[in-house]
Amino acid sequence: MRVNRDADVIVVGGGTAGAIAAIAAARNGARTLLIDKHGFLGGTATAGNVFHGFFDCRGNQVVKGIGEELVRRMIAEEGSPGHLLGGKWGHDVPEYFVYSQTPYDLETFKYVIMRMVDEAGARMMLHTFFASALCADQTVTGVEVHNKSGRSAWKAKVVVDCSGDADVAASAGASYEFGRGDGKAQNVTLLFTLGGVDFDRIVEYSRAHVRVRTWGEWHSRLMKAPKLGESQPSYVSMSGKIIIDDDLEKGTELSCGFRSLRPGELRLNVTRTTGIDGTKAEDLTRAEIEERKKVFEVAKALRRLVPGFEKSFLAGTATEVGVRESRRIIGDYVLSTEDVLEGRDFEDSVCRGAYPVDIHDPEGGHVTHTFVKDGLSYGIPYRCFLPRGLENILVGGRCISTSHVAHGSTRQMPTCVAMGQAVGTAAALAARERTTPRALDVELLRSTLVKQGACV
Ligand SMILES: Cc1cc2nc3c(=O)[nH]c(=O)nc-3n(C[C@H](O)[C@H](O)[C@H](O)COP(=O)(O)OP(=O)(O)OC[C@H]3O[C@@H](n4cnc5c(N)ncnc54)[C@H](O)[C@@H]3O)c2cc1C
Repeated sequence: MRVNRDADVIVVGGGTAGAIAAIAAARNGARTLLIDKHGFLGGTATAGNVFHGFFDCRGNQVVKGIGEELVRRMIAEEGSPGHLLGGKWGHDVPEYFVYSQTPYDLETFKYVIMRMVDEAGARMMLHTFFASALCADQTVTGVEVHNKSGRSAWKAKVVVDCSGDADVAASAGASYEFGRGDGKAQNVTLLFTLGGVDFDRIVEYSRAHVRVRTWGEWHSRLMKAPKLGESQPSYVSMSGKIIIDDDLEKGTELSCGFRSLRPGELRLNVTRTTGIDGTKAEDLTRAEIEERKKVFEVAKALRRLVPGFEKSFLAGTATEVGVRESRRIIGDYVLSTEDVLEGRDFEDSVCRGAYPVDIHDPEGGHVTHTFVKDGLSYGIPYRCFLPRGLENILVGGRCISTSHVAHGSTRQMPTCVAMGQAVGTAAALAARERTTPRALDVELLRSTLVKQGACV
């Protein structure tokens, strides 16, 4: 097999964390290769989400740097209204806690993120599936991949695993935990889009009527902003619990998030499938089958029952079912539940998180939110990105070293973006300084990140 040796840094997974990691590595002088199984970049961030967690619940911005640049580029392309603050979390949270979100158009995201990677000078190898880690004496030396051209090997000084599932680290023999430790992980969801909706009417009706009740027990979040191509603000987001209450669907409860940046369109996060291991092809296949069926059922029920949806139609589904949680590596440090909920700081903190712990019940119940103390943020130590016992590999994104509960916060997209900048920069510095990521001077990493606009 041909062995390619022209990269300093290889990033596996060009999703939420990985695309940013590639930008950071290339900007810091590393010859960078970014590998992804899809033909586009952005991963789960292209499924139809909104950014949760650029700000803490006091309104302090905790993710800046390349993440902020990404948002500004999307605003310039008229694909995002920017950060929205001022929403209310709900009745059981102190008054001063604000809910913030950053909506964006997913096609703009795909375009901008690819431009930024390209402009940074990182090389992309898309339509390429990671196959196995090249590893000798606990040291990762590269990756083997599969694509249309066949099988090939790629060597690098540092490999960054941003696959979401820690595929590279697991293949190299890293220890990891799965889900909450009893074989069950947060449930999975296929996000979908309805066209032909009247969102303002849906919100007003939901507030006023009981047959489809929203603003239920767990939270209520409403945001307004101008939609794409419009100048007047209208509803772009609502979340709550709908209880579908008619003869056919009696008592069916749905925790849901509705998002809308395009006029007449709504992206929905409603359906749930439990018992899925996102690292197993057979489970993922079952999830796709079950979720597609549920999406059709929910779309039909909403059309039949809720004013504002009468003329709606299924306009699209995400590229693949969204996996919230699978493997989490055991790193040199495991970020604990208390670290997150107490808002702790660390000497080697290289990025920050602030979003409440957001857990979609592995048993299929509702979503719970547990807040960081006083609505502030916590630091994420560099050690959480270093798989214990392995050299020359960093892990970023939702599969870093945390407890199951802490992961409920760190998995949010802005936090993954901030991790991407941290691990990409660390990989480039390690390659430049001819050292390993573990031996890298953390003060050099922190000062470089701060100089480059990140919050540590
Ligand atoms: C349904 C759902 C809704 C969510 N809603 C929100 C929300 O509203 N707001 C929010 O902030 N967060 C939300 N999240 C959480 C957030 O989207 C994810 O946790 C985050 O995007 C994960 O980033 P990541 O970089 O770790 O993984 P991903 O963004 O998934 O990136 C992983 C990348 O690796 C690639 N890849 C994986 N395996 C391989 C392989 N073997 N070979 C090659 N490439 C590979 C994938 O194609 C992908 O591009 C949601 C998550 C889900 C699942």
